[in-house]
Amino acid sequence: MALIVQKYGGTSVGSVERIKNVAKRVAKWRAAGHDVVVVVSAMSGETNRLMGLAKEIQPIPDPRELDQVASTGEQVTIGLAAMALQAIGQKAKSYTGAQVRILTDNAYGKARIISIDEERIRRDLKDGNVVIVAGFQGVDETGATTTLGRGGSDTTGVALAAALKADECQIYTDVDGVYTTDPRIVPEARRLHTVTFEEMLEMASLGSKVLQIRSVEFAGKYKVRLRVLSSLTDPMIPVEEEFASGTLITFEEDPTMAMEKAVISGVAFARDEAKITVHDVPDRPGIAYAILGPIADAKIDVDVIVQNVGHDGMTDLSFTVGRADYAKAMKILKDRVQPHIKCRDVTGDDKIAKVSLVGLGMRSHVGIASQMFRTLAEEGINIQMITTSEIKISVVLDEKYMELAVRVLHKAFELDQA
Ligand code: ADP
Ligand code: ASP
Ligand code: MG
Repeated sequence: MALIVQKYGGTSVGSVERIKNVAKRVAKWRAAGHDVVVVVSAMSGETNRLMGLAKEIQPIPDPRELDQVASTGEQVTIGLAAMALQAIGQKAKSYTGAQVRILTDNAYGKARIISIDEERIRRDLKDGNVVIVAGFQGVDETGATTTLGRGGSDTTGVALAAALKADECQIYTDVDGVYTTDPRIVPEARRLHTVTFEEMLEMASLGSKVLQIRSVEFAGKYKVRLRVLSSLTDPMIPVEEEFASGTLITFEEDPTMAMEKAVISGVAFARDEAKITVHDVPDRPGIAYAILGPIADAKIDVDVIVQNVGHDGMTDLSFTVGRADYAKAMKILKDRVQPHIKCRDVTGDDKIAKVSLVGLGMRSHVGIASQMFRTLAEEGINIQMITTSEIKISVVLDEKYMELAVRVLHKAFELDQA
């Protein structure tokens, strides 16, 4: 008998019919003798709707109150899922994040989980219940509701699996696994049977939203066995078949697979980025800090940073930030940094995107970057910035070329071929 945490995303609980299917699937796993803890998201579109309501009242909503509102979608689905299980004769109990005490810090909108009190869950499981926990939400020390960032139910699922030392955490979603790239953009994308934890970490951090980055970090830290699979199949397919389906995130590269494995595992992309350039700053020690220090103080994450070779004692510094932080970052630079460092100008572009190749095979292969740049050049796509690590290469380009870039790279690296 195994203990399994199953997380169902927004589409998977998007209608009463779908919730009934989730109940059937969960009851099937129970009937096969497994303990099941279920994490659900809000019905698809609901979190956006709730955030929209908040913004109609306060254009920049108070963070504490926004979390109070945004977290409510999940409270609806936990109750409905519990009822759907009871309706087919399976004992079930639902809990909000506060009720099972998913304690977080107070960084509203992007809170981090500190601890989970799993005793109550264990007791309920012992009594024969399926326990259903609201994804995406927690509670801070003061008792205020917090949320874990968009896509945060994945993190709730993995964190619960870690706390309960579950045998597996299954992320049920609207695709049947992790693909070589988003199958919505490239229909020829292929499902990966396994992907290493390191590759998944890069793919998630570079924009593949199939798993929230923090859920992958948690899985790595606590060695949670993590699988991504489809909730849209027949809910009554045999458990053994389902256990072998989807994509398993592995911790070690399988040496027998390594020989055949493609050099590149996937293409990731992120469109919600913006680029800022500070022109003609004096090329002297401390200048990067003078520019990026105030940005960091405002809790804005900076991603790709490029400093040009100096000329006549002057240089340019460009960097990217999330598009949501663009206006704030520009204001800080224009109002506070420019007068201080006396640069010539600060310009920006909030219509850029980042496209990345990810693969462990890059460690042992040369020429990947040049093949990537050639492929983009042949399509007339201009590369604005480049950044690399041991297992990824990212380029920043005009947003309007993003989908084309993803498609041609996917093809050039033969990711569509089995
Ligand atoms: P859920 O609501 O279940 O959490 P998400 O919408 O957050 O689902 O994530 C699933 C979606 O992630 C898919 O529908 C797909 O469009 C997208 N996606 C992006 N990159 C990938 C990838 N490499 N493999 C699979 N899906 C991907
Ligand atoms: N409902 C939340 C969101 O839309 C959390 C999640 O779906 O994982 O971001
Ligand atoms: Mg998601």
